[in-house]
Amino acid sequence: MTNQEALKRDLLPDNKTREALWKQVTRRLDEALDTLPERSPMPSLDMSSIREHLERYDFSQPRSAEAVLEDVVDFLEQGMVHTQHPRYFGLFNPSPTFPSILADTITAALNPQLAVWTHAPVAVEIERHVVRTLGSWIGWEEDATFGHFTSGGAEANYTATLLALTRAEPAFADKGATSFAGRPFIYASEESHLAWFKIAHQTGIGRQAVRLVPTDGSGRMDADALRLMVDQDRSSGYVPVMVAATAGTTNAGMIDPLQPIREVANDYGLWYHVDAAWGGAVCVSPMHRAMMSGIETSDSITLDAHKWLAVPMGAGVILCRDQEILGKTFGIETSYMPEGVAGLDPYSNSAQWSRRFMGFKLFLSLAVLGRDGYAAMIERSIELAMRLCGLLDQSEWRVVNNPSLATVCFVDQRSGTEPTAVAKHVVEAGEAWISAAHFEDRPVLRACITSHRTTEADLDRLLDALNAARAEI
Ligand SMILES: *Cc1c(COP(=O)(O)O)cnc(C)c1O
Repeated sequence: MTNQEALKRDLLPDNKTREALWKQVTRRLDEALDTLPERSPMPSLDMSSIREHLERYDFSQPRSAEAVLEDVVDFLEQGMVHTQHPRYFGLFNPSPTFPSILADTITAALNPQLAVWTHAPVAVEIERHVVRTLGSWIGWEEDATFGHFTSGGAEANYTATLLALTRAEPAFADKGATSFAGRPFIYASEESHLAWFKIAHQTGIGRQAVRLVPTDGSGRMDADALRLMVDQDRSSGYVPVMVAATAGTTNAGMIDPLQPIREVANDYGLWYHVDAAWGGAVCVSPMHRAMMSGIETSDSITLDAHKWLAVPMGAGVILCRDQEILGKTFGIETSYMPEGVAGLDPYSNSAQWSRRFMGFKLFLSLAVLGRDGYAAMIERSIELAMRLCGLLDQSEWRVVNNPSLATVCFVDQRSGTEPTAVAKHVVEAGEAWISAAHFEDRPVLRACITSHRTTEADLDRLLDALNAARAEI
């Protein structure tokens, strides 16, 4: 075989070889998914063994795909926290639905380019369809729902901030932050997701432009404190631009008072964003939609599909009600991009340029499970979280966040053990993954149940692990 022929065989193997490789991949992945509950959620390799293993990949010679696949799947399995584990009570990292895994495979193989409508019209329209549907579940008219998929919640929040700045001061797009009459400020609660600081840096308004509003003692923004802060800042010559409510805080799942914040936004002409990155998923469930009452009054919303909506990373969504502001913020014309369709070309309405078909995994998953299937998945999570609260209570662990979503924050009522020590003990025992966090400045243990693989028996095992940790510390 000549080098050229060998290269060709590796770049696109013949049909029979491809079939064998697909089979190998599916066999290995099925095994991984099936054996997960019996294994520890924790990685078994340390940094030096990982690097040592990688030394063998100096890329000096081609290798058989079969051998590399075998090796790499083993390697990865030993070197990651298994966030799909039924006892991963962690940071909303999903157990992806199977249809969404299939969708991401199809995306990789067909690889549509979504920058311009005319290059992948079906893909762009599928994403638009999903965005409009999500808008309708929030309570907006489909025809008045705009937005797009993002890499995650942080990019969605970044997008909202740019929209807010551009609306507040049209010259911002060309001249930047100095076009404001005073320094522009944005507001979020002390319990909000602190990507806001990175975002403020990225948008050029600087980290000090983020004003953290005090909370009410139970993890929710104090709307009166917001009003006072905005008022004083304005009197001091600053320019309040946006308030971001959090609907489902990362630490504790608390929901800011959405309607009262709307009123402050109205009184001071602020853009009103709701960061519902993980909690917004409850809007899928007619049973729980009321928890998010007021979210529909926002100007823009962040949702993460790669959290509770259970699709592979990365997939976030920014929803907004004003199509024009997207174009004003991200519009650009070039000679080299193919001719598109005004208002529908993702590259001139969003932060990204080349664009992966990120929304397909949510589309396929919704198509297979239906809204009812998704609602049942969300309702089950909340039911399990409530069950966990009961179990904790019986064992003298005290739940401190009175949860309505699926995150439970708790402390040791009996012996006052230190949360980080308990979390470490549980994780090192290899039974479950939980973490320590701060809720209202107080150290707590935090367990989040957003995996559809978690069962009642897994909660019992978590309790056993917690009680064992308490006994041994
Ligand atoms: C996770 C989260 C984010 C960040 O989303 P990424 O997808 O990690 O970028 C932002 N806000 C809230 C409330 C979150 O829970």
